[in-house]
Amino acid sequence: MTDKRKNWTKEEVFELYNKPLLQLVFEAAKVHRENHDPQEVQVSTLLSIKTGGCPEDCGYCPQAARYHTDIEKNDLMSVQTVKAQALRAKSSGSSRVCMGAAWRNVKEGADFDQVLEMVRTVRDLDMEVCCTLGMLTQDQARRLSDAGLYAYNHNLDTSEEHYKKVISTRGYEDRIETIGNARKAGLTVCSGGIIGMGETPEDRAAMLVTLSCLNPYPESVPINALVAVEGTPMEDQEQIPIWDMVRMVATTRIVLPKTTVRLSAGRTQMSDEGQALCFMSGAGSIFAGDKLLTTPNPDINKDMELFNILGLTPQKAYKKGDKPEVNENYKNSCTNDKNEKWSRPAHTIEANVKATISAKEKRKLNHKL
Ligand code: SF4
Repeated sequence: MTDKRKNWTKEEVFELYNKPLLQLVFEAAKVHRENHDPQEVQVSTLLSIKTGGCPEDCGYCPQAARYHTDIEKNDLMSVQTVKAQALRAKSSGSSRVCMGAAWRNVKEGADFDQVLEMVRTVRDLDMEVCCTLGMLTQDQARRLSDAGLYAYNHNLDTSEEHYKKVISTRGYEDRIETIGNARKAGLTVCSGGIIGMGETPEDRAAMLVTLSCLNPYPESVPINALVAVEGTPMEDQEQIPIWDMVRMVATTRIVLPKTTVRLSAGRTQMSDEGQALCFMSGAGSIFAGDKLLTTPNPDINKDMELFNILGLTPQKAYKKGDKPEVNENYKNSCTNDKNEKWSRPAHTIEANVKATISAKEKRKLNHKL
């Protein structure tokens, strides 16, 4: 996505983030109204098409196989189940379906072929289709695009500096590489982060600067509040104040004026008034459904009640435009042509190691009982 201003510095974004709150909300609301219809909010549905058993060590994630959490693991969903869920989502007002699989990266074979079929099926329902499947090569991105994929989600999660304290099984540059591969295949990009993982406001500003440097910048930016799940390394993280979420949404809106800011995980902990302030500050999408992959999410009827109170309506699919052109010459600052080789930094993150050891002990104990 292009616009006149792309060269934000970390200092400028940090200053914006720290403005007096109501001034920040006012400025963000103004930018929102200049670039979007403030009455419309896109309702998206997130389907976990393969749950749990992931080999990665993301410190926030209950789907990592190495941690002991009580999520229900599931193999890849059937195409029929995906179709039934997508139809249900469409009849409840969703115009976009995002399918998520707990994989490190996309692997060739029957599972990927099945995902391609899911993409064709949902596309034929005239809904925007998004996938989040981990790292992927340019060729895999092209095949997803040919099947009718509209968007690829791959979050930066946090700043490059803080990322090293959260994940050790792949590098930040791998994230940017995958985003580039999606771009080259003519997919729109969805990439954002999670706040409340022990990062500083400077880290939040730095993540937004990285997103703003991607050219074009992502069409969609999810802002998640950490949902601290028992058994993960972040189980004891304190819930962030609503004001941090409002600041983050508003700052994202100003830095990336044309992007759709998605109010994502953590909405069950937010009051209606808190969510209203986020919509005022530029949030243009929510995820519907009682679960967001594995964490709880508000009931759709409750969301629709809030829409009624606030005078919001669900947005139609493809309102923001058709898919962009294929751009094989796309370059980003971290382009590496050998994109089949993903990194494994494997540095030590104490909290992740501790949670892994405690999971092993719990499993041993359960085995003995
Ligand atoms: S966030 Fe994704 S890659 Fe990381 S552990 Fe969870 S499912 Fe795996």
